[in-house]
Amino acid sequence: MNAQSCRQAAERVAAILRQDGFVALLAGGCVRDLLLGREPKDYDVATNATPEQVVARFHRTEEVGAQFGVVIVRMKGHMIEVATFRSDGDYRDGRHPDSIRFTSAEEDAQRRDFPINGMFLDPADGHVIDYVGGQADLAAKLVRAIGDPAKRFAEDHLRMLRAVRFAAVLGFDLEPRTLDAIRLSAGHIREISVERVQQELQRILTSNTRRRGWELLADSGLLDYAFGEAVWSPSEVADVAERLAHLPEDADFMLAMAVVLRRFKPREAGRICRRLRCSAELEKGVAWLLERLPRVLHAETLELADVKLLVSDARFGRLGDLLYAECNGRLNSVTPHETLLARAAGIPPEKLAPAPLVNGDDLQNMRGPRGPIYKEVLDAVYRAQLNETLDNRDAGLRLTRRLLKRAGYPAK
Ligand code: ATP
Ligand code: MG
Repeated sequence: MNAQSCRQAAERVAAILRQDGFVALLAGGCVRDLLLGREPKDYDVATNATPEQVVARFHRTEEVGAQFGVVIVRMKGHMIEVATFRSDGDYRDGRHPDSIRFTSAEEDAQRRDFPINGMFLDPADGHVIDYVGGQADLAAKLVRAIGDPAKRFAEDHLRMLRAVRFAAVLGFDLEPRTLDAIRLSAGHIREISVERVQQELQRILTSNTRRRGWELLADSGLLDYAFGEAVWSPSEVADVAERLAHLPEDADFMLAMAVVLRRFKPREAGRICRRLRCSAELEKGVAWLLERLPRVLHAETLELADVKLLVSDARFGRLGDLLYAECNGRLNSVTPHETLLARAAGIPPEKLAPAPLVNGDDLQNMRGPRGPIYKEVLDAVYRAQLNETLDNRDAGLRLTRRLLKRAGYPAK
């Protein structure tokens, strides 16, 4: 299922349409990526065949986007999007056209967002069909709106975030008029669904060019609306940028969001993630990381039990990366990061998360019905075990009794 076989599947789809006299071209993002020598994420086909004509020619099709003239063809295990050349009618909701009209390849190119995304490639002979100056913009490394940028962004506000994403990921500049138009219309991204905003932020922040993506978000004014009402001063923007630059290339969204939201209290950061409809796992993870960051900045003062509890968490790797970025950004000294990793490495695996010497059943035998005190006492006893001040069950049970008594709940 590699990219090569995806390309072959798309070319096969195009060949079948061509046999019946239709025009069928590779279109959009895959042409851009092929010309840049990057691996396309997927291959789309554009054709003058209508959706019905497409459906009639393939065994397995899905008409998911039929109202936009898009049919999914299953070919050789791939899902190939086959879109009829179209021109979009008016946009009233800031995201979707009210109507479409089937038309020529040239008009289809005009309704696309950027020249770099508006080219076709004829798989029959490999020649590029470029009605919108896409090749010139690739050479100049520019993301530019096709047509009047203000009008194009008013039609579909998501294009503003796409512009920043492509500029960041490809290392391109935003063409000045395009950038100006985004600055004027940035606030309109509040009108598109937060899921789409989140999706674009995710792609910007998980790219290894995340620093530049962040700076472009700030520079274009989109940042003021991307994370809800949060306000960013220039120095906060710079602080985040500096830290993003020190993340590993493959840092994931959770880690990048922790860097972006570093100045917020963990709960507030979690709320911002929730408003963006991030997953519960991501929201909890960001809060977990931010809650622990101030403590690991003083890694030498952590108790052994704390280090063990951190290391046994699946998010520990991210915490180390976050600390590293923070150390570079703030302290100009990676000592806390080195200390944390050295302390983690010094723990033998069998001592990391041993089975508890004392468990809930023991407490129940001592006290009867369960209560909130159980967790507190069990945690304290387990911490003692992790701190290696407790190494056998009898001592554990004695400590349990002592803690219960001290808390005013003497054991039976
Ligand atoms: P990638 O798949 O890497 O995100 P892509 O360019 O293929 O990049 P898609 O979202 O898959 O992006 O869209 C395919 C093509 O459809 C684009 O290249 C562009 O020509 C067109 N397109 C997508 N979204 C829009 C939009 N919001 N406005 C205008 N044209 C768009
Ligand atoms: Mg695509």
